Amino acid sequence: MTRVLTNIRWLATCPADGADDLGLIVNAALAWHEERICWVGPAAELPADYACWERVDAGGRSVIPGLIDCHTHLAFGGWRPEEFAARCRGATYGEIAALGGGIASTVNATRAASEDELYERSLGFLREMMALGVTAVECKSGYGLTVEEELKQLRVYQRLAATLRVSIRSTFLGAHAVPPEFRNDREGYVRLVCEEMIPRVAELGPHFCDAFVEEGAFTPSEARTVFRAARDHGMPLTLHADQLSDTGGAILAAEVGAISAAHLEYASDAGLAAMAKAGTIAILLPFAALTTHVPPLDARRCLRAGIRVAVATNFNPGSAPCYHLPFALWLACCVHRLTPAQALRAATANAAQAIGMSDRLGSLQAGKQADFVLLDVESVDHWLYHVRPNAAQAVYIRGERDHDRP
Ligand SMILES: [Zn+2]
Repeated sequence: MTRVLTNIRWLATCPADGADDLGLIVNAALAWHEERICWVGPAAELPADYACWERVDAGGRSVIPGLIDCHTHLAFGGWRPEEFAARCRGATYGEIAALGGGIASTVNATRAASEDELYERSLGFLREMMALGVTAVECKSGYGLTVEEELKQLRVYQRLAATLRVSIRSTFLGAHAVPPEFRNDREGYVRLVCEEMIPRVAELGPHFCDAFVEEGAFTPSEARTVFRAARDHGMPLTLHADQLSDTGGAILAAEVGAISAAHLEYASDAGLAAMAKAGTIAILLPFAALTTHVPPLDARRCLRAGIRVAVATNFNPGSAPCYHLPFALWLACCVHRLTPAQALRAATANAAQAIGMSDRLGSLQAGKQADFVLLDVESVDHWLYHVRPNAAQAVYIRGERDHDRP
């Protein structure tokens, strides 16, 4: 199927290599064949070859690349509303974890859920995310923490990728927390992750490897061991770094050549400089910064250091029980001090880079996947200023408007 989208008010191409550039085209046209974009430019310059293709009228709406949520913990059992209320009353992340709450309580609920239950629930979340304009999602394991339970979560993501048109980047996060049964044998758990989980995960298919480097989670030295095993199995690296304290996570991210590092509220200037040198992308997670009451990272520190910035929801039942990516972008402007234009790039071109998919996602350019969103907005500034329940009027994924695979 070959089609041309016309009558576009403006279109943001978000070029993969354009540092701060949205690549705006006023009165644009977009031509695609099957899943791929063939041509993008001013409607007046539409090549004659494409002019006879089936037309789709954008109705004067604006077009952006499909949004990419580059950090989520999508498949989990249960919820934790009582912790939210406790934090509102003043309890800290550490106090909640010490009371048996936090990640440990979601691990119990996720182990208790069947694979089918996790799949059905995640499918529901994903369909609602797609309606908001999200066309690619990174999904982490890390609530199983045994070989079989981690694989169960990762199989859910494989099934979702086979059902929906949305692109899924699946990430193994066995080093999320030390499970209760290994409380007195941390070394034994790290060994289990490296020697049993990682080989089985690699067998299942290509995965990223993540680790939560924080007091109460994993030390930089333990994470280094996990990352060594992951690299031996060809897994690209990402990490949760410097969220609640400066544990040297940003420096570690640069040292191991991580493609991205998330949180970074307490990252030192030296850590950010190291990330810039290594080309590691910073992923800002505004929901988590706000619910855990840590001072949000000033994104301008990253930009000044020369780091590319992405923004994600971090959707999870503890620190970020919300999958509304446009709302996270609005918050990124308010609390992380991005401009709306920077926030759009943070959820498109830069987010695609953060999950290693910029060869086909994140930009509206010839050869890229035809993932795009029609917005009923005057400008990018207006989109993230007058934030609404949903400004997406239509969402195309792999060239089709329907979210489900045929
Ligand atoms: Zn996370």
